[in-house]
Amino acid sequence: MKTKNSDKLFEKSKNHIAGGVNSPVRAFKSVGGSPIFFRKSRECYLYDEDGNKYLDFVGSWGPMILGHSNKKITEAIKKQSSKGISFGAPTKNELEIAKLIKSYVPSIEKLRMVNSGTEATMSCIRLARGTTKRNIIIKFIGCYHGHVDSLLVKAGSGLATLGVPDSPGIPEELSKLTITIPYNDKNAVKEAFNKHAQDIAAVIVEPIAGNMGFIEPDKDFLQDLRQICTKNKSILIFDEVMTGFRVARGGAQELFNIDPDLTALGKIVGGGLPVGVYGGKKEIMNNIAPDGPIYQAGTLSGNPIAVSAGTALLKQLKDQKIYEKLEKNSKVFLQIIKDYCEQNKIPFSFNVRGGMFGFFFSENLPKNFDEVENTDIELFKKFFRGMLAENIYLPPSAYESCFISTEHNEDKLIKAAKTAIKVLGNIKNEI
Ligand SMILES: *Cc1c(COP(=O)(O)O)cnc(C)c1O
Repeated sequence: MKTKNSDKLFEKSKNHIAGGVNSPVRAFKSVGGSPIFFRKSRECYLYDEDGNKYLDFVGSWGPMILGHSNKKITEAIKKQSSKGISFGAPTKNELEIAKLIKSYVPSIEKLRMVNSGTEATMSCIRLARGTTKRNIIIKFIGCYHGHVDSLLVKAGSGLATLGVPDSPGIPEELSKLTITIPYNDKNAVKEAFNKHAQDIAAVIVEPIAGNMGFIEPDKDFLQDLRQICTKNKSILIFDEVMTGFRVARGGAQELFNIDPDLTALGKIVGGGLPVGVYGGKKEIMNNIAPDGPIYQAGTLSGNPIAVSAGTALLKQLKDQKIYEKLEKNSKVFLQIIKDYCEQNKIPFSFNVRGGMFGFFFSENLPKNFDEVENTDIELFKKFFRGMLAENIYLPPSAYESCFISTEHNEDKLIKAAKTAIKVLGNIKNEI
């Protein structure tokens, strides 16, 4: 497979765009080689600048749950753009999408539209702090909530300690207000509340972690978070930017039947355009300006074209059966690979929910970030490169989830699984 044009474009882009890309994971740093530049997408396929066609397991990191260039979405965008691109004033369509989102995610009583997942989580944090008049945030190691200063924090020394900045440019004074705890560690949560209960504004969590591979919460983990937040009058924030409308129509909160106080949404909710949403309990949301004192605003928030795309997507999720189908098809794909790995003594584990899955080169599914780091990352890199050479586009990092769409039918996935077996066989022979 030739990727000459992509390679050239990347070299040129590096002179003009920081790192050659507009978001770091795209640069392929963690898998090696040069990123692929795409020019077109249809159904479950991506087409690059060298004329190659790939089966896509990234789906723009989630939004493409109905496949690429979904007809109803592209038509809605065209129709709206002929009427007007942006008014900077309210529209009827914002009311419509708000009602639609609420009908799918009933814990949301009121919401606000923003322009990215980062903006949604950032706004949740400010709202939680402003509402509780407390400053400390609890987050979990390996959960990604966008590049919000308070949330780009890694663990200090020891468990459940105050955090240290995960990036230069974040004041230590700020990161000290974030406590980081290993995912699924209920005792560490208790310990943190024992020490700091009066100061904890919020607990923010990916109710299924999708940014360190795909990790499910232990039974009772989320339930415990719900209880401890209620008891201590802290705000429970579910970051469902990735899982919302993806693992189930109502997100992970529907799967586990737990209502957070606030929810952050993104990715799918914009139908592929830049949209974030945050919302939750009325009493909390009423604290936002202009009704309340906590400020949050956006020039292009609720942009008509973005709203039209999001609405067109969400309307097509009416029939919840698509989630069973997505899950079934993902399992077909992964089970074929697992069977092969078992026969050939390659450690392999996987987990699926709706249209999202993760796999690890490890005997057992990891439960937290440390365990993910102990999976065979080198093998993942080889697998990624092998699959790419066979025109299958996986997320370019062992720390990401995979996404399929309703366009990935069983036949295509069985074929892809057979390719995966071939790739793993080649890797085995090399060793
Ligand atoms: C993608 C993601 C974000 C950030 O969303 P952006 O639109 O990239 O800013 C936040 N939280 C989670 C869980 C995500 O997966």
